[in-house]
Amino acid sequence: MTSLLFNPATYDPQHFDLETRRLLRATIDWFEDRGKRALVSKYHAKEFHADFLEFAAKENLFATLLTPAADAAGDENKRWDTARVAALSEILGFYGLSYWYPWQVTILGLGPVWQSANPAARARAAQVLADGGVCAFGLSEKAHGADIYSTDMVLTPDGDGGYRANGGKYYIGNGNVAGVVSVFGRVEGIDGPEGYVFFTADSAHPNYHLVKNVVPSAIYVSEFHLDDYPVTADDILHTGPAAFDAALNTVNVGKFNLCFGGIGIAEHALYEAITHAHNRILYGNRVTDFPHVRSYLVDAYARLVASKLFCDRAVDYFRSAGPDDRRYLLFNPVTKMQATTEAERIVGLLSEVTSAKSFEADTYLTIAATDIRGLPKLEGTVAVNLALILKFMPQYLFAPVEYPPVPTRHDAADDVFLFNQGPARGLGKVRFHDWREAYRTFVHVPNVEVFAQQAEAFAELLLTAPPSEDQQKDLNYLLTLGELFTLIVYGQLILEQAELTGVDPLVLDQVFDALIRDFSGHAIALHSKPSSTLAQQQWALGAVRKPVVDQARFDHVWGQVEGLSGAYEMNA
Ligand SMILES: Cc1cc2nc3c(=O)[nH]c(=O)nc-3n(C[C@H](O)[C@H](O)[C@H](O)COP(=O)(O)OP(=O)(O)OC[C@H]3O[C@@H](n4cnc5c(N)ncnc54)[C@H](O)[C@@H]3O)c2cc1C
Repeated sequence: MTSLLFNPATYDPQHFDLETRRLLRATIDWFEDRGKRALVSKYHAKEFHADFLEFAAKENLFATLLTPAADAAGDENKRWDTARVAALSEILGFYGLSYWYPWQVTILGLGPVWQSANPAARARAAQVLADGGVCAFGLSEKAHGADIYSTDMVLTPDGDGGYRANGGKYYIGNGNVAGVVSVFGRVEGIDGPEGYVFFTADSAHPNYHLVKNVVPSAIYVSEFHLDDYPVTADDILHTGPAAFDAALNTVNVGKFNLCFGGIGIAEHALYEAITHAHNRILYGNRVTDFPHVRSYLVDAYARLVASKLFCDRAVDYFRSAGPDDRRYLLFNPVTKMQATTEAERIVGLLSEVTSAKSFEADTYLTIAATDIRGLPKLEGTVAVNLALILKFMPQYLFAPVEYPPVPTRHDAADDVFLFNQGPARGLGKVRFHDWREAYRTFVHVPNVEVFAQQAEAFAELLLTAPPSEDQQKDLNYLLTLGELFTLIVYGQLILEQAELTGVDPLVLDQVFDALIRDFSGHAIALHSKPSSTLAQQQWALGAVRKPVVDQARFDHVWGQVEGLSGAYEMNA
């Protein structure tokens, strides 16, 4: 089971082709050869990661993994393959958000381009990648945050069929170096969705003015202004409502890497935490002999395993998606909000165990504890993602349909549908296969059985004491419902992946111990909501369950955690 966690020393992803394996290994070796001293000192010096971008350029890393086959000019190694994109996201997260982020925003920047039918813009992006360049996604603005409808990036017709763009963008990663900056704006004089436009800009153009890095760290999250920036037909990616769809569909693709980034960060932090705590002697005993420390570590491990199982399974749904199977649109915000907040929680537990060690200048834990906070806030906050998740709830819970089975997707396919997702609306119409099936398969695992009872009770709540009209407008109430619902979806894919990969049932039992506690916590939160009715309050108290206690199981899982002590230490 321990092999489920990424370990640079033993990593051998046999399911990938030779070139993919070479690239992933070269990346690991680059970090390990450069060493931990350089990793942490550059982080604390807030040194821009130019050396990493040089390495990526030399190896054709981004070009190979982020150029769809259609734009690859016959290079057989280039394709958009979500399984290997996820693998690199995890590796980069493992070495730090500073390296994951430039990769992530390159993915976002490419989204509107690979969805565009503009051959000139596509060819230029492919060339920028081939030349070792990176991309950026210019959606957010200083005044408007998540309210992207209100863009103040304005394109004015220049009289020759082109435009002049004027306006500012804020929080734009890679905005200091990107050869392709995909920018969202609107055409002057056209109101509403018809006026939206996505176009590309080049950060090296004289009319592109870099203002500053808005964050105090090694990553560059820029503010930039376009001043009379010339936009020609070759630069226009999308116009009208399609530009808005391109923005949302890009976030769908880009959002997905957040969970793998978080998993990588949590994995590295776990190795460091267990190795430190297990070898530290206090009052004549190991720190890991404290029962609460052991419990925190087992919980962190179980939560990490859970997150990996869910996210790995979500890859399959992404890769098998199509116009008639848009289930990935639910699993995606779950990876985004649940898996990233779980990563934050895991690192929090580890920091509790390691205490002062997670403040030292030379530990990865210090970096993890700082950076992990960012993930749930990128590409929509937890609240925004929960609001999205809620749209799927009725069809998911109450109207299952048959789908052909979705197998594990490690094949070397090009995921073309991700850039042909079509209109972003209609989420409430997406249908799902029966969630109860996965729970039935594992009903012999004691805590799965208890959690399945909680899931059934939740469906019952919606039938017997559903949110009133007022509550349906009260996001404060609905978000807690969303948290409860999310756990059911989370558990389902965890179980599907456990079945596909043969996960140790005792570990699975420990995973569901955590899910039961989380569900009970959210039920109590629902009970306390200002608007909860008597029936809802009674339901909430009745839905609280105690996980099945099994000391032998706990000790068994602890044995796996203990085995991680000394299993990995980054090269000095
Ligand atoms: C480190 C970093 C890097 C980033 N990189 C990029 C990038 O490369 N490109 C880019 O375009 N953007 C980028 N962003 C911006 C990021 O996507 C925004 O943070 C996000 O869109 C939310 O905007 P905001 O943080 O200003 O919050 P606001 O939009 O101001 O939100 C404030 C509050 O309102 C709530 N809220 C807002 N809308 C809703 C809603 N519809 N439903 C429920 N609650 C809502 C939020 O939950 C939040 O609590 C980056 C942000 C950070 C922190």
